[in-house]
Amino acid sequence: MLKFLLPLKVLNLKAFRTFGVALTPARLTPARLSPAHLSPARGSLPLPINYTVSVTNRCNARCKTCNIWRLYDDCDEEQPALRRSRSRSELSADEFARIFESVGKSAYWVTLSGGEPFLRSDLVEIYDALARHCSPNIVNIPTNATAPRLVERRVRELLEVKNKTKKGKSDLILNLSLDGVGSLHDEIRGVAGNFEKFVATYERLTALKQDFENPRLRVGVHTVVSNFNLDRLEEIYEFVQGLNPKPDSHIFEVAEERVELGTVGSGVTPDYRSFAAAFAPLRERIKRDYLKDPEADFLARVTQAFRLEYYRLLEKVLTERRQPIPCYAGFASCQISAYGDVWACCVRAEPLGNLRAGTADYDFAWVWRSRKADEIRASVRRGECCCPLANAAYTSMLCDFSALRRVLGRVVR
Ligand code: SF4
Ligand code: SF4
Repeated sequence: MLKFLLPLKVLNLKAFRTFGVALTPARLTPARLSPAHLSPARGSLPLPINYTVSVTNRCNARCKTCNIWRLYDDCDEEQPALRRSRSRSELSADEFARIFESVGKSAYWVTLSGGEPFLRSDLVEIYDALARHCSPNIVNIPTNATAPRLVERRVRELLEVKNKTKKGKSDLILNLSLDGVGSLHDEIRGVAGNFEKFVATYERLTALKQDFENPRLRVGVHTVVSNFNLDRLEEIYEFVQGLNPKPDSHIFEVAEERVELGTVGSGVTPDYRSFAAAFAPLRERIKRDYLKDPEADFLARVTQAFRLEYYRLLEKVLTERRQPIPCYAGFASCQISAYGDVWACCVRAEPLGNLRAGTADYDFAWVWRSRKADEIRASVRRGECCCPLANAAYTSMLCDFSALRRVLGRVVR
């Protein structure tokens, strides 16, 4: 049902971002929401369609492109108690359930991210609450693929939960990180043997598909492009193409300087010229291998068409340092941190509000429809920031007719 509603939701979000007025009628405003707190748009302000939910900041990898693991480990040496209390302050499965209940059916696409999401022993419980309350069409979970058996076991449980609910027809996408072939991957990820574990995780997950009648499980590969692997992109691409079976997708994303990752000022992002030179041959390969492959299914072709558009926008962001199309973070997409902060995106990581705050009481709409959220949206609308964040870019493309036209053009060509 939601799939059919998506174009209407997109139109509504587009009207709201462009004119500040939503097409949906205003809902009744609960009495507890004081006018001083609320955005003037109040109940008519649409909720996002794309949510990134960080289920934990814990991570067992030590990537050169991300410092999120330092959040707990740095204090581990000096103040183990601090680490425990920070870790305990992450949202519990019950708290996630209350938040998902308030989000309701607005969610079309949800990413359960981290840290390493599979380090949460209650990941299946969190997924179950998400499926029951929100029924998203797509749930995407990234993994650093350091624990093949654990990931296989959890994904099997996730598929069992998925197939029990009405959302058995939704897609579960697992994206495995791969930043290099062989020792280069281990070196960038800071984990000895990570490359072998990647291969083992990939084999286990693709084999798992055979155990379910219609798993709707998609297994993809995710490569972070940084100054550490810029000259090895073709090698990585060839390796991934040679995997048997071929992955459902292969995404390249540029390493970013993000507040969330603690990488601001780290210099991990490659400069535009080097990136463009290294990436140009791959764009042609992707067109040939996915868009012109008669065996690639429709979803894989659409996904790759979006990716090619993303790579085009990425180059523009890196060169022009402005939003190449209007950014819809804070309008159509958002992130919920492991501690309950709601952000427009993880690059700005500027709280619109916290879901645990007494007045919010885990009500997502309370935070989303606040005046503080309006201020941040106004800044995004004025183009005061720009970045190549892939997750936000895909939603922005969906809401931008010119980008959408180019994407569809690639699919039908
Ligand atoms: S990039 Fe992912 S795997 Fe690497 S340290 Fe950050 S959260 Fe962990
Ligand atoms: S342009 Fe980037 S930093 Fe600015 S709101 Fe969008 S995703 Fe966030």
